[in-house]
Amino acid sequence: MFTQTKFMMKKMFCFFVVQIFGLTLFGQEITYWQQRADYEMQIDVDDAKFQYDGKMKLAYTNNSPDTMDKVYFHVYYNAFQPGSAMDHRLSNVKDPDSRMMVKDENGIAKSRIALLGKEDIGYQKINSIKQNGKDLKHKIIGTILEVTLAEVLKPGQKANFDLEWKAQVPEIIRRGGKNTKEGVDFSMTQWYPKMAHYDEFGWHLDEYIGREFVAPFGNFDVKIKIQKDYVIGASGKLMNPDNVKGYSLKGTAKSSTLNAKEKIIWHFEAENIHDFAWAADKEFVVTQQKVSNGPDVYFVRMNDDTLAKTWQDSETPTVKFFEYMSKHFGKYPWSTYTVVQGGDGGMEYGTVTLITGKRNFESLVGVIYHEIAHSWFQHMFAINETVDEWMDEGFTSYAEHLAYLEIFNKPIEPNPNYSAYEGYFDLVKSGVEEPMSLLADYYDYNYSYGVQAYVKGQVYLIQLEYIIGKENLKRTFLRFYDEWKFKHPTPNDFRRTAEKVSGLNLKWYENLFVNTTRTVDYAVANVSSNSIELKNLSNFPMPIDLLVEYSDGSKELFYIPNLELRGEKLSEEFDLYKGAKRSVLEPWKWTNPDYSVKISKEVKKVIIDPTLRLADINYSNNSYTK
Ligand SMILES: [Zn+2]
Repeated sequence: MFTQTKFMMKKMFCFFVVQIFGLTLFGQEITYWQQRADYEMQIDVDDAKFQYDGKMKLAYTNNSPDTMDKVYFHVYYNAFQPGSAMDHRLSNVKDPDSRMMVKDENGIAKSRIALLGKEDIGYQKINSIKQNGKDLKHKIIGTILEVTLAEVLKPGQKANFDLEWKAQVPEIIRRGGKNTKEGVDFSMTQWYPKMAHYDEFGWHLDEYIGREFVAPFGNFDVKIKIQKDYVIGASGKLMNPDNVKGYSLKGTAKSSTLNAKEKIIWHFEAENIHDFAWAADKEFVVTQQKVSNGPDVYFVRMNDDTLAKTWQDSETPTVKFFEYMSKHFGKYPWSTYTVVQGGDGGMEYGTVTLITGKRNFESLVGVIYHEIAHSWFQHMFAINETVDEWMDEGFTSYAEHLAYLEIFNKPIEPNPNYSAYEGYFDLVKSGVEEPMSLLADYYDYNYSYGVQAYVKGQVYLIQLEYIIGKENLKRTFLRFYDEWKFKHPTPNDFRRTAEKVSGLNLKWYENLFVNTTRTVDYAVANVSSNSIELKNLSNFPMPIDLLVEYSDGSKELFYIPNLELRGEKLSEEFDLYKGAKRSVLEPWKWTNPDYSVKISKEVKKVIIDPTLRLADINYSNNSYTK
């Protein structure tokens, strides 16, 4: 695999910060590093056979402190063959994705992959791979290509690889493939041999079973040669709009002079992304919007009257979405974004998404918002989805929902997405919850994976807001952007940012909420003339906001930090708290299940967290009314 070498540094003055190999070194300490993969690809498509020949020049830079003697690539298309790991997974997971199944004559659901014929399977076959001109030994097992280097790659060195391969585009079973249900010919995702990810945790060589991704950042220069009637929507910027169909009047005129069999080249460039995707169809039409102080946004859809209006109506809300996201989560850094009809649902790639297009307005805007939000939480912050899928999907769902409420003038409750809490509580009750820190592929149930990734990940954020306060969460996102854009942050990195912004310790929260399935349950145990007795019925400590309404009509908000915080959140503004005096009490020690709040007036009503942001699994014991 690779050999670990000690990264030897001559002693430096500690006041000196130096950039070497892209690493920030302070004294002898390596703070952060990431690999880089810059691609140049030329693709020649045979649209009749749904095959293509590919050539790649890949510059791979080893910024790690390790010497490498092997590298790995993903060859995802190989998953779409009978007997693949993805096929087995479909046959054995308790609740397979219905898109990937077909019912036999007895009504029994079977893996569609198992039934694929020779012309409909997918493959990526490597003809040759060279390092600096030398042929390399390589082997493919499943969807991973293992390559033994001719020359070891030392820290800071760059290797130039030349790959030639042949691929067949599979029938669409998951995300990419040929002939979608909506009639799109080519949905080209996971379509090229992609350099695997190597970081401080080692290689990420997950067999493709239809789920998550991670990859190093790089620049892409992609030339696609295809029969002249096709229109392409892709990652990055189209470099030759006048020579192709769809993107300018000149382009349309020119291509019509070619004969039917003739091919033209589409040239795209994308900077600093970690996955390149495209789709092509002869019926595609293109429209364009411009976000002020932001990207050019392209909409590429089938020329179909039944969807033209909803797609046109979604353009302005999409522009507004970029404005909202840039304001709250940091400026969108690329010059383009393209929404393309294709695939089997909605999936995010570098500066592009493939979505199914036959939807009502709400659903179309919803999926566009979700996938664009991934430009932050997945692409710019390139979270390792194979490990921390909840951070990528949960944060995306959180941002998408807040933006939707604001853009469409919906009321914003203190807990803006209580329905996420309800989904999480249902999962807890189902008994099949597994810790969120589980590797994304390994959940026993797709249901449990889905709720944890999309829903519990959102609860994590809204509950974090409850712990550190509204203003601090907003500032955390903007600081996170400054510190982590174009990098691969982990949950720990986000937690550390929140700690630095709030001055509060959050190790306990991340550990208990992410790495375990523990739940929170606090209760109002007793109210007397001089005290309110609270109880922690769970093994999960939390700070408590306790709103008390006295019989004389006055209100008091008691704030009880938990000991672990080693500090206090500042007051938050909610209508619910208007007119209430705020009193900060002594910290509640996690070792003691009981806590007493002294009072001096008669109490009418007591409630633990009326904002409903505390994910307390039993609300029935959270309040008292005289
Ligand atoms: Zn998503």
